[in-house]
Amino acid sequence: MTTERTTIVTENLVKRFGEFTAVDEVSFAVHPGEIFGFLGPNGSGKTTTIRMMLGLLTPTSGNVEVLGVPVLEQPEAIRGRVGYMSQRFSLYNDLTVLQNLRFYGTAYGLSNKELNQQIDRALQMAGLEGRENVRTHELSGGWRQRLALGAAILHEPEVLFLDEPTAGVDPLSRRDFWELLYQLVADGVTVFVTTHYMDEAEHCHRLALLQRGQIIASGSPDEMRNQGMHGQVLEIVSSDSARAVKVLRAAKIEGRLPLESVELYGSLVHVIAEGVESLQDALALELKQSEIESGRMAVIEPSLEDVFIAYMRD
Ligand code: ADP
Ligand code: MG
Repeated sequence: MTTERTTIVTENLVKRFGEFTAVDEVSFAVHPGEIFGFLGPNGSGKTTTIRMMLGLLTPTSGNVEVLGVPVLEQPEAIRGRVGYMSQRFSLYNDLTVLQNLRFYGTAYGLSNKELNQQIDRALQMAGLEGRENVRTHELSGGWRQRLALGAAILHEPEVLFLDEPTAGVDPLSRRDFWELLYQLVADGVTVFVTTHYMDEAEHCHRLALLQRGQIIASGSPDEMRNQGMHGQVLEIVSSDSARAVKVLRAAKIEGRLPLESVELYGSLVHVIAEGVESLQDALALELKQSEIESGRMAVIEPSLEDVFIAYMRD
């Protein structure tokens, strides 16, 4: 089913736990050298999909190929060629940075010579030089994350599977982490990464949006922006944005205003509608009737977050 030029292919992948379908007919292809993002809220099936792609969990039905290897039949044939950073970074907290790397390197079957070389490379890549003897539990979230990435690349994998690597990590470290991923990609690694942070989609070459086990949209960030939006985004400053959202949603449901969606966006309200610019007076009036003052209104470029919310509401 794959060509040699496809790094990962999944076909109609399904996983049921009893009656519950966690992954529902998921199909996609990942090409060499790309960062493929698998985006979805908690519980949408990201980890379950990754575990099936790695041969750690047997699908109910469907197929997976990684690097041309049929994973279901030959799970061991990809082990040495892929790296996996699991959701809660399986590091040993009582061990030092160096001891963790030694442990993982040995587990990957590296010889002593390779081990030292690869550990140096991982320390350098992760910027952990000088922290070799720090105990892992003393590292901040951002450094633990880098160490886990270092451990996942000791055996020079061709494909990296990263399961929510940036979850719970501060925004600055998150940005640095993406820089590291770009470096790895520049070195020829293909990256499959899951996240529930919608804003991280922008970092991916292509992505799939997962909801309740199904892919509801996929493509490059630009493709998704162009296909996903029906209407334009109006950003509204108001005296009580949380209540403004409720009021405008009610107006939408009751058919008074032709709106696609209304979302709270930080302290602002985002309204999406066809021809939203011409609705400004009607929106202001609707709010005023509920004693909410509206301030500046501006049509803005939709963020990917706006686009995804629009997809998920459809
Ligand atoms: P995500 O990684 O996107 O947060 P998961 O793949 O972990 O989602 O889980 C998808 C859904 O499948 C969730 O509703 C979860 O509770 C359920 N699930 C995951 N593993 C099991 C299991 N072993 N048994 C039963 N349900 C499971
Ligand atoms: Mg998960």
